Amino acid sequence: MKTYLPGKFIVERDDKRCIRCKVCTNQCSFEVHSYDNEEDAIKSAEEKCVGCHRCVIFCPTRAITIRQNPLDYRQNYNWRPEYIEDIIKQAETGGILLTGMGDDKSQRIYWDHLVLNASQVTNPSIDALREPMELTTYLGRKPDRVELDKNLNVKTELYPQVKLDVPVMFSAMSYGAVSYHVQLSLARAATESGTMWNTGEGGLHPTLYKYSKNTIVQVASGRFGVHSKYLNAAAAVEIKIGQGAKPGIGGHLPGEKVSADVSQVRMIPQGTDALSPHPHHDIYSIEDLSQLIYALKEATNYSKPISVKIAAVHNVAAIASGIVRAGADIVVIDGLRGATGAAPKVIRDNVGIPIELALAAVDARLRQEGIRNLASLVVSGGIRNAGDVAKAIALGADAVNIGTAALIALGCTVCQQCHTGKCAWGICTSNLFLTKRINPDIGAQKLANLLRGWSHELKDIMGGLGVNAVESLRGNRLHLRGINLTDTELEILGVKMAGS
Ligand code: SF4
Ligand code: SF4
Repeated sequence: MKTYLPGKFIVERDDKRCIRCKVCTNQCSFEVHSYDNEEDAIKSAEEKCVGCHRCVIFCPTRAITIRQNPLDYRQNYNWRPEYIEDIIKQAETGGILLTGMGDDKSQRIYWDHLVLNASQVTNPSIDALREPMELTTYLGRKPDRVELDKNLNVKTELYPQVKLDVPVMFSAMSYGAVSYHVQLSLARAATESGTMWNTGEGGLHPTLYKYSKNTIVQVASGRFGVHSKYLNAAAAVEIKIGQGAKPGIGGHLPGEKVSADVSQVRMIPQGTDALSPHPHHDIYSIEDLSQLIYALKEATNYSKPISVKIAAVHNVAAIASGIVRAGADIVVIDGLRGATGAAPKVIRDNVGIPIELALAAVDARLRQEGIRNLASLVVSGGIRNAGDVAKAIALGADAVNIGTAALIALGCTVCQQCHTGKCAWGICTSNLFLTKRINPDIGAQKLANLLRGWSHELKDIMGGLGVNAVESLRGNRLHLRGINLTDTELEILGVKMAGS
């Protein structure tokens, strides 16, 4: 017998305003609202409400209010409602609790404890509106020095690189985890903004090959959709070892989301669960990883940078050093707050470390070992705005990836129900009725607008710091100060306390 659990939200409908248009009943993919013919009334099964706010926004008369349900249990700091309800659910099912998006616990967000500097008096700031400001970033191995011939042409052989007009890329989000319209929006926005989107582990839809100059393709442990044409189409190839939302485990796309189209792109049978193994079954050492890196270089004729993505974990600096020495041109580190379409809740909320600490440790280690130029560093997992981007670059990143922020630009309200496949905003779903809710023309424009806004803000921040190129900000921790941090935290971050 199913135990009754109180709803998380209270759905209030102002009956005087409601015109019985049934927009809410059509819009809610969680079947909260229904029309009662006999009473000519709209009813709400509020225990099903996930707080996605689709009905609130689409109700033409603003009749609906969704409120968080106040505490229904006796207050107890240890036994919070979430933990009680998790136990009740598991006592009924005996299963793993799944969730979507990133860790929502109150772990310290170090971006909020770092502040940026600004020029005053002696080192004048630069007016970003009137002076040229350079956001262009190149990802990939850099030569230690560049030699020129007598005509000032570059003599040094350069390694393949990816050029970004803005140091912000879209995170890996696979077809199946997100809808085709989302991927199309990301691909178009990346092309318009001069940056990259990333296929994730689900292959590349045939109609998206035309955006390949702005596409990074992924090779994950399941090898879904990987073939020679796929590898050679991309601007860069990424080996996915781990991701921040679920370090140490593989991916799981439930069979319900493996539609005919998704199955073709992934090269797996329709309706079967797409389970990528926890490890790559051909990688058990840095030497094995090196073999795969060079196999991919060989397969792409040494024409593209090879990236390796890992989750931020305890020994991340040593791991990153090994990856660089194995031949990777880009290292992507995804932190504790990195999001996903579906993850076991216990892994998402308890495994991994914050990206800020991982980034600082990796950048410092690669510099100490004199190998920082051999690879670029890209970080992700909780980047929320241009301020976070500037701080990440000052801590040592070459660029950042954004996933949740990009989905919010498309309409996501972070309701964390991606794993259900019922996303009311048509983002994390393969349901053909729901996927039409994303218009790729509008989606691409919103994403491009977001990147344009962040670019303006980055230029303003850099101008205030008195630097005119993102290259001058990279790894320049003197531009950062810490507040409310312990000495150990300041030491790991490599920044001074504010006031010093
Ligand atoms: S969308 Fe608003 S006005 Fe329409 S039926 Fe629902 S509550 Fe009533
Ligand atoms: S993508 Fe959809 S289901 Fe996932 S958090 Fe956002 S609104 Fe909710």
